[in-house]
Parts: sequence; C-alpha cells; structure tokens
Amino acid sequence: MTSTLRADVVVVGGGPAGAATAWALARNGVDVLVLDRAHVPRPTACADYVSPQATRLLSAMGALEAIEGAGAAPVTGMTIRSPSGGRFHGRFVARAVTAGVRTNGLALQRERLDPILLDRARAAGARVRTGVDVGDLVRDATGRVIGVRVHDTGGAKDGEARALRTVEARIVVGADGRDSVVAQQLGISPRAPHGAHARRMAFVAHQHGVKAMGASRELYCFADGYCELINVGEGITSITIVAPAALVLRGSADPEGFVARWFATHPQVGSRCAVSGARSIERVAAGPFAACGAHARRAWAPGAALVGDAADSPAPVIGAGIYAALRGGEILGPYLFEALRAQSPTRADHALEAYERSRAHEFAARWRVERLIGAALSAPALMDRLARSLEQRHDLADLLVGAFDGFVPARALVRPGVLRQLFAPPIGGGGSYDD
Ligand SMILES: Cc1cc2nc3c(=O)[nH]c(=O)nc-3n(C[C@H](O)[C@H](O)[C@H](O)COP(=O)(O)OP(=O)(O)OC[C@H]3O[C@@H](n4cnc5c(N)ncnc54)[C@H](O)[C@@H]3O)c2cc1C
Repeated sequence: MTSTLRADVVVVGGGPAGAATAWALARNGVDVLVLDRAHVPRPTACADYVSPQATRLLSAMGALEAIEGAGAAPVTGMTIRSPSGGRFHGRFVARAVTAGVRTNGLALQRERLDPILLDRARAAGARVRTGVDVGDLVRDATGRVIGVRVHDTGGAKDGEARALRTVEARIVVGADGRDSVVAQQLGISPRAPHGAHARRMAFVAHQHGVKAMGASRELYCFADGYCELINVGEGITSITIVAPAALVLRGSADPEGFVARWFATHPQVGSRCAVSGARSIERVAAGPFAACGAHARRAWAPGAALVGDAADSPAPVIGAGIYAALRGGEILGPYLFEALRAQSPTRADHALEAYERSRAHEFAARWRVERLIGAALSAPALMDRLARSLEQRHDLADLLVGAFDGFVPARALVRPGVLRQLFAPPIGGGGSYDD
C-alpha cells in the first residue's frame, strides 16, 4: 500500500537538532512532522556530555528537570593530560556564565537524553514517526524541494510508517546527522577545511567501575590520538577513544577487539578501565572524520535547510555538538516561521538565506577554536608545552577549558595576547586542583 503524508515542515532526524527545531516550530503552531529512521532510544556514538551552555536551552524546552530526574551526572570542569604526563585542570567558572546558563554541564547516556528531547517536541504538538528512513528529496520542476521519499524500513513498528512512500512539505529540514542524506542530496554536505588534520576513528564504550572518576571531563592526549572519560551517572563511565583512521584500519575492524588492544597499549587509561568484574554495556564506533570538524559551505537550498551535525559536525572531543544542535534549532525556528509566512518562494528563500548569515555569525568563532584544538591535539609537543604553561596558570586553564567547551565565548581565547600566554614558558607560582 502507498500513502502520502503532508506537513508544513518535515524534519528529517529526531536527534537533538531535529527535536529542538520541531519544538521551536510546534510551540508556535506550525504543523511539523519529524521522521527518524531509528526507533528511539537507539545507540549513538557520543561521549554523552552536555555542555553548561546547553542548560539554558534545555530549560527553555522544559527538558532540564526530566534530564536531571533521569540520573544525569553534573560535570564541573575538565582535566587534560599531555602525552608526556603533564596535567592541568580548568573549571567552569561562574564569571563566564551568561543568563540562564548553569555553571556545570551534565552527562547522561544518549539513550536517555534523546527520548526526553523528542518528547518535548511531541508535547509542543509535533508529530513524530520513527522507523522511517528518508532516502530521497522530492523536487518541483524548478528544483525546489517539496518533500521527501522514504524507504520501507521493514523494521517499522506501526503500520502507517511502513506504508509511507512520499511526504509532502513546504520546507524540509535536514537534521539527519553527520552523514546527512538531505545534505548529500542537496550537494551541500559539510566538508573539513582545506588541509584538515589526519582522519580519525572514534570508539565509545560504557563501563561500570572505572577507578577514581570525579565530576570532571578527563582528556588524555597521546602521540597516537586521545581518550576522554566522563562519569555519566549510576557508576557508569563513557570512554571515548579517538585514533588515527590509518591505525584503526590496519588492525581488526572489530570495535571490542580494538578497544581491548588500545587499553593494553595505553595503560594510563587501561589500568583504570580494565577493572576486574567491570561490565561493558555497549560499544559504538564512528568515523572516519577530520580531527577539526566539518562545516557546510551553505546550510540551505530552495525549500530546505540543514541544522545540527547535518550542517556542522564538530570533532568528537569538543563536547559542544549537542549544544550546537540545540542552538541551531533555536536559531533556525524563526527563519522557518518567516519562510512559511512568505508571500512568494523568492521571499521564503530570503528567509533561509538570512538563517545562513545568523548561523555563520553564531558559530564562526567556534569553528576557528575547533581548528586550533584539532591542530593542538594532533601535535603532542604542543600539548606538552600547553600543559607546562597551564599547570601553573589556573586562570588561563579555566579560560582554555571554557573555550574548548564552548562555555566561554571563543573570541576570548582567539586573541594574540592570550594565545601568546598559553604557550609561554611557566613563570612560577601555581597550585593544584582537587578533582
Ligand atoms: C565519538 C563521538 C563522541 C561525541 N561526544 C559528544 C559529547 O560528549 N557531547 C556533545 O555535545 N557532542 C558529542 N558528539 C557530537 C554529537 O554527538 C553530535 O554533535 C550531536 O548528536 C548532533 O545532533 P544531531 O541532532 O544533529 O544529529 P544526531 O544526534 O546524529 O541525530 C540524527 C538523527 O537523524 C536520524 N537519521 C539519520 N539519517 C536519517 C534518514 N535518512 N532518515 C531518517 N532519519 C535519519 C538518526 O537516526 C538520528 O536519530 C560526539 C560525536 C562523536 C562522533
């Protein structure tokens, strides 16, 4: 059986970006339909960390209480260890806080987080269909996007989703993540900047009983990649290992085997994780991707817009992807609203073009910081030097960690005077943090 659905806006993807966009539209009375190929909850390659600045958006969506009620762990700062064993710690300090933003981040497994966000979109009035795989865009004679075609997933739970073939829409939003079908079909997929650092693969494991976990993100930098540990609540730690793709692909493709070998060759982490009796809950692999993230040159086309990872996918360790996805939805919402009210297709395009300018204005400084971080993480000597400088400069460590996290505006870091100090030789003094 073939049937056609329609909505004013079809959002492809029900992750943080899709949920935030749908919520922003539905609460303003827009008829919005979210389609996701997966049945939520589903595993996602993510370290499960939500940066402090996302708390304002989560609170606005009415999701914060549910997230904390689901057992989210607070995250108060970040400890970074350099390849030669140097260490510095930065806190999410109160002076950096903007209105409505908490001074701590949160960590909650995506299997729990994403359904809460999608529920908020539903509560605002959005329709949500899962198990619906969008394979193609539908266009009119001028090339304008006027809907999507969906594949029968076979695994769909409800009969209606299984029977879908075409969904008509006035605007299609691609919120379908890093390998966005919508972006590919539009020919505007995110690209890593020219000269991007070596491609990486990521593995995420969740494990009980990792030793000495506190309330900080812990980043270990090695000559051959890096690893992040985060307490995600209930005694579980997310362990994200990022390694050069060439190294991973030389060995077995089996993620479990790779992680076990990696623990053996990186005892600083392995000795904390390979706890006797520890139970590994799940492992997910992602990549390859550029170490410094990738960005779409343009996040719109006539009748369509991109948001979240579909438009800009950060490097995994940045820890601001969920925030950027939520913030992207918040930015996009009003422009979609304007496009729907436009009297002509040309005016609707102007609204989406204006979204593009807002997106660039919001995120451009952040992308520069990501490139710097990507470069630093690919250069062990630079990380060692940074650690030597910052072990004794707690104020700068707070600033760096805040910018790394997206908690402090990127422009505060990307200033010649600050950059000079970051790599200056240590000048005495110092102390230690109790993390
Ligand atoms: C290893 C790793 C660790 C990370 N750790 C963190 C972290 O700790 N903190 C952080 O903030 N960010 C992290 N990120 C980034 C973060 O995961 C993303 O930025 C974030 O998930 C983006 O949200 P999104 O809604 O744009 O996309 P996604 O969360 O990827 O959601 C996309 C949705 O679209 C659906 N979809 C895809 N294709 C189709 C299709 N054809 N039809 C229908 N539905 C489709 C998918 O099923 C999915 O539900 C990490 C990334 C990686 C790779």
